[in-house]
Amino acid sequence: MKKLSKEPNKNYPAFVAEKRLGQNFLHDRKVQTRIIEACQFSPEETVLEIGPGQGALTRQILPCVKGVIAVEADRQLAEGLEREFLDSNLTLHHGDFLKFDFSKIPGPIKVVGNLPYYISTPIISKVLENREKFTSLFMTVQLEFGERLVAKPGNKIYSSFTCFVNYFSEPKLLFTISKNAFSPAPKVMSCFMRLDMRKTPPVSVKDEPLFLQVIRLAFQQRRKTLLNSLSQLCPKAKLGAVLAQAGVPERTRAEELGLEKFAMISNCMKVALDG
Ligand code: SAM
Repeated sequence: MKKLSKEPNKNYPAFVAEKRLGQNFLHDRKVQTRIIEACQFSPEETVLEIGPGQGALTRQILPCVKGVIAVEADRQLAEGLEREFLDSNLTLHHGDFLKFDFSKIPGPIKVVGNLPYYISTPIISKVLENREKFTSLFMTVQLEFGERLVAKPGNKIYSSFTCFVNYFSEPKLLFTISKNAFSPAPKVMSCFMRLDMRKTPPVSVKDEPLFLQVIRLAFQQRRKTLLNSLSQLCPKAKLGAVLAQAGVPERTRAEELGLEKFAMISNCMKVALDG
């Protein structure tokens, strides 16, 4: 791996970080190395990087892989990267990752990013919705957010997004990162995560859109009983029997249910609605 200079980077002179774009640059070399090691890159692979910023991770990924495709929203940073990595194996796109056209990338590949916290949810959703293009998503997120993704049923922080993420991928929280590893330092702790895309879902579901709707509605109205919150999808007269068949008491709250139970509810509901 190339040695990194400790001099200020002349490609990004007098750069003022933009809060709007969640610009907290990872300057801690030990954390950068831990991230690179955790990603287990190989020389044959191409990697997609979200928000390379001033290239802290890009600089370390490039020598380990065949190529990096990076998407950076900030024009000044994108231009700095282009200057620094001219004639290298970096392909840079200036633009919003949320609007990025995945037909431009070969697949399936790894995605890596030290994500702007305020768009962690839409970024993960976009990657999971296009999971045939990816093997894994490696990312830095706010610790509290990362804990939500790996929360188990019964935990207060277990949510519909936890279910969505665990249905389409296997999330692991790899290590925590202190605020001081970034500049400017964010207000909260971070963590580094790995989400491996699932080739097959962890539970068998007859109707996926219905399954996802059951989860969404059950959590949207957490205080209501399942009998009330799911009545938008299935008449109450049938719903009582559906829940009984799925072995779920009507007064159960959404956060107590694992993916298996949501699958059973939606599968029984599908039969009741079609029958
Ligand atoms: N990867 C760099 C690092 O580790 O130091 C920068 C990380 S900083 C937390 C997030 C980066 O994502 C910034 O460079 C920011 O400009 C960029 N960014 C923010 N929103 C973006 C978006 N929607 N699409 C692509 N890049 C974005």
